[in-house]
Parts: sequence; C-alpha cells; structure tokens
Amino acid sequence: MDCLFCRIIKGEIPSNKVYEDDKVLVFLDINPNTNGHMLIIPKEHIVTVDEVSSSLASHILEVEKKMHKLLTEKLNCKGLTIVQNNNYGQEVKHYHVHLIPRYTDDCWKMAFRQDNLLDVKEVLDKLNN
Ligand code: AMP
Ligand code: ZN
Repeated sequence: MDCLFCRIIKGEIPSNKVYEDDKVLVFLDINPNTNGHMLIIPKEHIVTVDEVSSSLASHILEVEKKMHKLLTEKLNCKGLTIVQNNNYGQEVKHYHVHLIPRYTDDCWKMAFRQDNLLDVKEVLDKLNN
C-alpha cells in the first residue's frame, strides 16, 4: 500500500512536525489556509471516521485541545476551525483532522452551498424514515 501519510509517519517523506506521541502525529499542512494550519493523523492506517475507535477519538480530542492552547499562546489565533473530510472531498485517503487557526483578517467564509437545496422538512423526513 502506498499511502502518503503512512510514509510521513515512517519518516520516508519529510514533514514539519509539531507534536507526536504513540498514537498520533501532528504536522503543518503543506498548503495552509492560515498560519499554523495543521493536520492530526493517527499512526494506524485508517481512512474515514467510520474506522475511528472511541479511544482514538477521545485521544484526538485531547490533542486538539493541546494544539488549540499552543496556537492561541504562540500564534495568537482568535479561534480554531476543525474540519475532517470523508470520501468525497478527501484528497488523502488516510484519516486526518484539519486544525485551521482563525485570525481577524483571515477572510474565511463557508464558501460551498449545494444548488437546489431541499426544504428542511423534506430533509428531516428523509433522515427519520
Ligand atoms: P483533504 O482534502 O482533507 O484530504 O486534505 C489533504 C490535505 O493534505 C491538504 O490540505 C494538503 O495540503 C495536505 N497535504 C498533502 N500532502 C502533504 C504533505 N506532504 N505534507 C503536508 N500536508 C500535505
Ligand atoms: Zn496511511
């Protein structure tokens, strides 16, 4: 299997490492949206949220909090947007969580919106039946 992020974990491809422990690696995104945009990846090769165990999820949450504190103290970010793509829109097929520090001048907007949105009642009906 030729997985880019597994190769980063093995040290075969360089990365700008921010934090590492026995379960995860955190490194700077090569194409950052803002200063300090980083990715948390598990050391085990999994692809989507469906494969994340409860213990890994809670560990990632603790690392998110640690990185939030670091980014606030060291880069003076004003907030943190956390995004995680699954399948569609997922460029790298190794589970990763984007931590995107927010700044007052970052001009970030939720830019995507589906055409022909259904009525909310219709969506709720589909979800519940
Ligand atoms: P996604 O679209 O959620 O799969 O995001 C993949 C992310 O990985 C993108 O933001 C890329 O910029 C980032 N990326 C791809 N290759 C590397 C790399 N070698 N080092 C760091 N980040 C990378
Ligand atoms: Zn992998």
